[in-house]
Amino acid sequence: MIKKISLALLLILIMTGLAFFYLAPRKQFLHYPQNTIYRSQTVQIAVPSCPLQANSLIVESIFPEKSLSQWTKRQHAESYHLLENTAQLWKDNEFIDNFMIIATIPPRMHADNFFWEIIPYTKKNYHLFEQLLVLGKLTFDSPCLPKAERQSIKRKYQDYLPFFSKSYRPIPEDNFCPPVDVFCQPEIIAKQLLYEGKHTHLLYNHAPIGIGEEKLHFIIIPKAHRTNFMELTLEEYVEAQEISSKLILYYKQRGYPIVYIFHKSGKYAGQTVPHWHEHLIFVPHRTHEFIGKLMVLQKMLFPTSPLNEKKFKKLVDIYRLQAKEALNSLNERNYTKE
Ligand SMILES: [Zn+2]
Repeated sequence: MIKKISLALLLILIMTGLAFFYLAPRKQFLHYPQNTIYRSQTVQIAVPSCPLQANSLIVESIFPEKSLSQWTKRQHAESYHLLENTAQLWKDNEFIDNFMIIATIPPRMHADNFFWEIIPYTKKNYHLFEQLLVLGKLTFDSPCLPKAERQSIKRKYQDYLPFFSKSYRPIPEDNFCPPVDVFCQPEIIAKQLLYEGKHTHLLYNHAPIGIGEEKLHFIIIPKAHRTNFMELTLEEYVEAQEISSKLILYYKQRGYPIVYIFHKSGKYAGQTVPHWHEHLIFVPHRTHEFIGKLMVLQKMLFPTSPLNEKKFKKLVDIYRLQAKEALNSLNERNYTKE
């Protein structure tokens, strides 16, 4: 029933979206300096001009890096602390512990700089509808906030500024792997594994979202069991982002310049496997048309069916070789460091 209602809503959204897509003028996502809430050495947290959800926040570089691949280890580490502290803040003060962190390449709304957006999910009864709205705004341009509203959101965080400068300490894992947690099952990992890092595994998704034959949909998970982002350690996060960066660079050179990167914490945000995992979906240039975006939107909301075993194995073999090639320099650096 809920699925039917959502499908109907999705259709309505598509229709209105189509109208907007063709009629509305192209907007530019503006980064007003006055939106900045807190600045660390290399990244900052700010109120987005055109958020995907009321009260979402963004983390971006304070330098004009255009792409995530240009981010340094330090920037990943500092953004880890800012994003984690935000999640902690929401949990302690607003009882929100469901959220999604998402970024697109190129950044949405024609932004000139890469940014992460952390989106709270508050409506426990209408979470599917809330997820649909966020994905709708991701596909079509989202409405922008007036200056007064941005200032009021910023004011809300003024009391917490010292909190943002803190080093985040992950909440300890409970070490309990529920039976539905496929990412704690070695035989599943072995089947999907593309690359093994020091703290993380790069996997090929068993039911990939993708257009055409390639279906470039990867997942990065910590080797240790971490239920959600708040249990993830700094080392695991930084390694996951370094792997993402290398893959983004690699596939850009192979005709996949469009990337969706996201991870969800909590079932109201749409997290299905209770083991933290970051999705990386690559889209080729030729599908950067509206329909391509819509397909990704639809598949992000409703689970896709797994590939048949033969096809799956074939793709895993191909992507294992490509991952090795793409992440070679990561290996070398780790090697020389140790
Ligand atoms: Zn697990």
